[in-house]
Amino acid sequence: MAQILAPTTQWHMRLNKSSTNANPMTAKMWGSLLLKQNKKGVSKSSSKFRVYALQSENSTINRLEGLLNLDITPFTDKIIAEYIWIGGSGIDVRSKSRTIPKPVEHPSELPKWNYDGSSTGQAPGEDSEVILYPQAIFKDPFRGGNNILVICDTYTPQGEPIPTNKRHRAAEIFSNQKVIDEVPWFGIEQEYTLLQTNVKWPLGWPAGGYPGPQGPYYCGAGADKSFGRDVSDAHYKACLYAGINISGTNGEVMPGQWEYQVGPSVGIEAGDHIWASRYILERITEQAGVVLSLDPKPIEGDWNGAGCHTNFSTKSMREDGGYEVIKKAILNLSLRHKDHISAYGEGNERRLTGKHETASINTFSWGVANRGCSIRVGRETEKKGKGYLEDRRPASNMDPYVVTSLLAETTMLWEPTLEAEALAAQKLALNV
Ligand code: ADP
Ligand code: MN
Ligand code: MN
Ligand code: MN
Repeated sequence: MAQILAPTTQWHMRLNKSSTNANPMTAKMWGSLLLKQNKKGVSKSSSKFRVYALQSENSTINRLEGLLNLDITPFTDKIIAEYIWIGGSGIDVRSKSRTIPKPVEHPSELPKWNYDGSSTGQAPGEDSEVILYPQAIFKDPFRGGNNILVICDTYTPQGEPIPTNKRHRAAEIFSNQKVIDEVPWFGIEQEYTLLQTNVKWPLGWPAGGYPGPQGPYYCGAGADKSFGRDVSDAHYKACLYAGINISGTNGEVMPGQWEYQVGPSVGIEAGDHIWASRYILERITEQAGVVLSLDPKPIEGDWNGAGCHTNFSTKSMREDGGYEVIKKAILNLSLRHKDHISAYGEGNERRLTGKHETASINTFSWGVANRGCSIRVGRETEKKGKGYLEDRRPASNMDPYVVTSLLAETTMLWEPTLEAEALAAQKLALNV
């Protein structure tokens, strides 16, 4: 795995630098490394190698792996629940685990819990308790068995949502009857970048230098084009196992960058599933020894940024006559462009430059099959006269609770004045 993760030169670099105890290699990786070294006839007294051989002979890793894979179900009803929440930056995922007496199927069967909010930048030291409310459960792909991952949101002891709890408001919007009746679907394309741990430079890039220009990497295969496929693939399977509605993956335009899609999901579920998928990705990259970055423009210059395109439709958009409803939604979106931009992720101005398949952050635009627009409508949707729209503005670090609920609010609950509507319709050539 590690050999695929990092090109050979960097792999050797890591061998030299790594300390004995902080290496995330599995027993299998040890095995293949040993085999390779032996084949090459490298003597075991090589100073580069001795550290690893020692640890392997010790079989620390093997024994740990045996315990990690222990199936506890024949011996106890108890399960482990990993409570997950969003920390103070609004993008960091935190978690801790607890034992639950027996398997559960619904979050309402789980107790509330708490954590020290002063350690996550979410509460003052003198009144530091933040309360976790279990909201969605997934199967735990790391522990297996009946163990679960629990997506929680966060409250004060008095029951008020804390400022970084964006789920609470989103759930209110998604429980509005008008919104429920329209069964809003979201398909989210999460892009991310993998970085080498020590240098924080993209995976597959030469240390301190740049790879060849973009072109061969998008959906590419081969050791000189695809970096980190094992992470993407491990994540794909782990998400399916967990019960996340993941619908696909692809290598991205910038080398070391990947995408996966989640959806279509209905309402608040879209946010829960993206957050669970991000948590799983953090855990997998942790194991693989690479760093996950959701920065919208990890590398300055002629390199694509990372977005979180949000595909969206309502029941009326998906039915005959839907194209008119889509156009009306675009009109509303144009009138609230600034509100949306300010909710679509930190640092998005570095990404939405008008280049690299983006539209400028300052102007709203839409088009059929046009990837340089704020909103893209697919050819298929135009042809069929119904379907969905793609909001290309959200950054990779957006909060899906915020983006999905704002889309719902702007297109289903908010109404512009007739005057503003007429003006916008003229400007955008939208006859609604
Ligand atoms: P792109 O061509 O922009 O790369 P992707 O194939 O990566 O698009 O992602 C499209 C996403 O849109 C998928 O997650 C898919 O499930 C979702 N999607 C498809 N139909 C709808 C719909 N009617 N409403 C909302 N989302 C949809
Ligand atoms: Mn895509
Ligand atoms: Mn993409
Ligand atoms: Mn897209």
